Amino acid sequence: MTTAQHTAEDLRGLAEQAGRDLEDASPLDILRWAAETFGPRFCVTSSMEDAVVAHLASRAFPGVDVVFLDTGYHFPETIGTRDAVGAVMDVNLITLTPVQSVAEQDAEYGPKLHDLDPDLCCALRKVKPLEQGLTGYDAWATGLRRDESPTRANTPVVGWDEKRRKVKISPIARWTQADVDAYVAEHGVLTNPLLMDGYASVGCEPCTRRVLEGEDARAGRWAGRGKTECGLHG
Ligand code: SF4
Repeated sequence: MTTAQHTAEDLRGLAEQAGRDLEDASPLDILRWAAETFGPRFCVTSSMEDAVVAHLASRAFPGVDVVFLDTGYHFPETIGTRDAVGAVMDVNLITLTPVQSVAEQDAEYGPKLHDLDPDLCCALRKVKPLEQGLTGYDAWATGLRRDESPTRANTPVVGWDEKRRKVKISPIARWTQADVDAYVAEHGVLTNPLLMDGYASVGCEPCTRRVLEGEDARAGRWAGRGKTECGLHG
């Protein structure tokens, strides 16, 4: 296993080469490459919508770090899924929290910042904590898929995250929802109960609604606010 420190230029080159070489590789093989290349300087981030990527990563790299962002606004079902993942899977669960509690944020910016300025709320409660939490890693894996929305249609399986200067791995980018469902059924993977209750994508409670017939999976996120991404993936 290679765990040596890499420079940012090394990492960019690795990402670009791997993006070409691994485009047709299976998610498990992509994650085996990540484990082999980065060792403990690799982590998985999970929104706890489901534990599919965490499950795949734990097969490639038992004890892998799985990072969860606790914004303080999650559904109880999401926190329950996080706790179950930590209890039953061979992963090292790490929960990141924003600098301010929701009450402290309300005191400084006013209540319901998610309604007043959702970009600022996401910056404070998601983007900054993740950037701090990723400091010790060279590479991070996500559950992004190309079929989730038009904004994700060009997601590379391995790419360069210029904003954070890290390798960004999306091992199931080429999977469809049917592929995810089949993996969940085959391996008995934990999923968020809200997925059985009309939610196709699960984020913070104030900014997530059920999807309607014919809508894409992310249509229920920040609906009516002119926002489709939180800033973690843009
Ligand atoms: Fe705030 Fe909504 Fe973003 Fe969560 S998704 S951090 S509640 S704006």
